[in-house]
Amino acid sequence: LSDKYKGLDKNVWAEFSNLAVKHDPVNLGQGFPDFAPPKHVTDALADVAKEDNILLHQYTRGYGHPRLTQAVSKLYSNAIGRTIDPFTEILVTGGAFEALFCSIMSCVNPGDEVIIIEPFFDCYEPMVRLAGGTPVFIPLRPKAGGEGHSSEWVLDDAELTSKFTDRTKAIIVNTPNNPLGKVFTQKELEFIGQLCIKWNVLCIMDEVYEWLVYEPYRHFRMASLPYMWDRTVTICSAGKTFSVTGWKLGWAYGPAHLVRNLCVAHQYALHFVVTPIQEAVARSLEMELERLNTDESYFKSLPKLMKSKRDYMAEILVNMNLFLHQADLKKSHIDLSEKKYPEKDYCFAEWLTRVKKLAGIPPTAFYSAENKNLGENYIRFCFIKEDAKLKKTEDILKAWK
Ligand code: PMP
Ligand code: GLN
Repeated sequence: LSDKYKGLDKNVWAEFSNLAVKHDPVNLGQGFPDFAPPKHVTDALADVAKEDNILLHQYTRGYGHPRLTQAVSKLYSNAIGRTIDPFTEILVTGGAFEALFCSIMSCVNPGDEVIIIEPFFDCYEPMVRLAGGTPVFIPLRPKAGGEGHSSEWVLDDAELTSKFTDRTKAIIVNTPNNPLGKVFTQKELEFIGQLCIKWNVLCIMDEVYEWLVYEPYRHFRMASLPYMWDRTVTICSAGKTFSVTGWKLGWAYGPAHLVRNLCVAHQYALHFVVTPIQEAVARSLEMELERLNTDESYFKSLPKLMKSKRDYMAEILVNMNLFLHQADLKKSHIDLSEKKYPEKDYCFAEWLTRVKKLAGIPPTAFYSAENKNLGENYIRFCFIKEDAKLKKTEDILKAWK
């Protein structure tokens, strides 16, 4: 293993997916839907495969299939209130993951600092390190006396301000946040934006869950702030958008002077992304553009469905009196003396999978070494699952109680 990858071998997804294969639990671990994607989306892929257009099976434009970048441009030009050029301001990538990789690789020089808000999607830290950068962490903390809502997790303004220096190259913001579910408010994003302006810092917005926002919350896009456009790259995922995580397609949009840099990184990563999937996603977006803001829109029906699942899951956990919003291990009276992992939540999640046949993800995977204590009393359960599976979760937890 080359030196740059040393110490990065541990990966929560591989670890807990293997455990799930071994113990066959009710799996609320790795985040992916266990129900069918919208029919028009799978039909689009079937049509592409069957049609007599052989070009759709060959390489397409390296930075993005034109029909797709045009649909993406329409969707987000409308969403942020400014025209996005489909050929210079959008890059199509192998999932949001590759967009993150290209964004970080193309802007970070050795010695640069990148501010990462905790808890964070776990790949940010290794990607920054691989680029030679130094991650600088700032945790969201729950307000004292709260009820466990994700909106109560906030940054301390003074602490955040203190993280910006003339070595800061970028900040990565994930809204809605994985694993917390916190949706950053416009005010919170404006505060971050002002600091970016003051310190001439780039803003990498991971907005893959942009459509999974439940009333009364609203997703606010940093790129819609006119003064932030020039320094913001926004990252999205077709996998999350259309419940097709296995399609592994994403995109980044932003000003041409930044997207150009991402394109250079992309050129030496994937260079081309699967054409039939791009064509199918383009057609799916075109369909959604036609019915935007109507009740048929998947961008409305999916969050509606998810809100009821969220409420059901919250009810199960709160009724248990064992968990509050996310599991509070302090109240669970479980003997974790057999230490299979250094972190308490890893021990708990392993135990829960093996003994109770219920799988979740230990949240310290989303924290830096220095702040793992903030996540170790919790567990993340993914609830984009059929109600029958959520019911099984309820049964397991009730039987345990
Ligand atoms: N960012 C976040 C916050 C995520 O949860 C995910 C999901 N894996 C990704 C990026 C990567 O998305 P994709 O599957 O499109 O690569
Ligand atoms: N984004 C998904 C999650 O958070 C899957 C991540 C992965 O497998 N790398 O569960």
